[in-house]
Amino acid sequence: MKGDCERPLESNSSSENQSKGLLICWAQMKETLNEATIAFLRKIYREFYFEHGDTIDFPDQIQSREFGYIPFGGGMVRHLSFKSAGEAKAEILRQSPSSVYASNARYLAPTMPMEEKGWQGAELIFDIDATDIPTPCKKSHDLWYCGRCHATGRLPKPATCPKCEGPTAEFHGTCGVCLLASKEHALRVIDFLTEDFGVPKGEIRAYFSGNRGYHLHVYDDRFYKLDQTGRAEVADYMLALSLPPSQSIASLLKRRPASPPGSTYGWMKRITSFTQAKADYPGTMQKLVSEALSSQRALIDASVTTDIHRVFRLAGTLHGNTGMAKMRVKSFDTFDPEKDPVVLSAEQTKVKASFCPKFSIHGETFGPFKSETVSLPTYAAISILTRGFGEVA
Ligand SMILES: [Zn+2]
Ligand SMILES: [Zn+2]
Repeated sequence: MKGDCERPLESNSSSENQSKGLLICWAQMKETLNEATIAFLRKIYREFYFEHGDTIDFPDQIQSREFGYIPFGGGMVRHLSFKSAGEAKAEILRQSPSSVYASNARYLAPTMPMEEKGWQGAELIFDIDATDIPTPCKKSHDLWYCGRCHATGRLPKPATCPKCEGPTAEFHGTCGVCLLASKEHALRVIDFLTEDFGVPKGEIRAYFSGNRGYHLHVYDDRFYKLDQTGRAEVADYMLALSLPPSQSIASLLKRRPASPPGSTYGWMKRITSFTQAKADYPGTMQKLVSEALSSQRALIDASVTTDIHRVFRLAGTLHGNTGMAKMRVKSFDTFDPEKDPVVLSAEQTKVKASFCPKFSIHGETFGPFKSETVSLPTYAAISILTRGFGEVA
């Protein structure tokens, strides 16, 4: 649990800690979203689903998936199921919720409590999010804020506000550097899958999460029945957590630099290709091995891959905080995460902002705002309204 309001919404875990985080977060928001703001947000989301409902990308075997949603100003509703995409679409339009989710798992009885659902298997999923990648720009756009007096400061977040002892929360911004880092790590996962696990490229589907990262869904049947332990091993492999210490690898490479054992596949192949290409490296072999690891390991959120009972934001639906769409990425070369997922109107919306840190969307920067009424494109106003930083004027 990262203590991040947005994070549990990204991909909801079944674990108690995660749902607790979710509830605390939404309890805070409930107090701040007034009726008019909720009505406005629902109207905007409903208009989107009315016009673009057909682009929602439902999973196959829809009747065996668990669905869930979070209404604006409310808590998570889970354990739903639909017989068809048409039925699901009608409900999404009717609710026009803040977030819509579906399970990667298939169940015999998706509406039953978790232990009675009858788990049949689940696609393997990877979550790559800028939150997990130590980009140097975080200092400039991530901060904690006080829900009461709006004091702000650099992370880590204090338990309570040092000025007024009010409740504190984290705010994570996004920038081009973070989005590029997420893409780089998503490409690393794809490289592991295709090169080391032999997954055909056509069986990997990439999606932009609607916020700061990517989800990769793997449709290779070999992973379908894999349990939590097996999935944890896959995640550990990509994070380079299952390797011997870099010191041991370095001494092995020093002893047999031309052909260390196991160097024809997997991590050892990756490490030896890297070290052999840097024959005149000035530092120690151990340092070079560490570089080989850090330049190739994929900083995925292992807890997402491991949790086989999770629900994920449904592709083609809007993110509950940003108003951006979770959408399929057909080509990382041409996909623009700053522009393509911005699907709401540019029509001006007047917002009475009580407080909002600086944020970026559509490649433009807005704020910071403090006790002022501002007119913004609707796609930007959403970020202020959904977080309870302001209300419709
Ligand atoms: Zn305070
Ligand atoms: Zn950044």
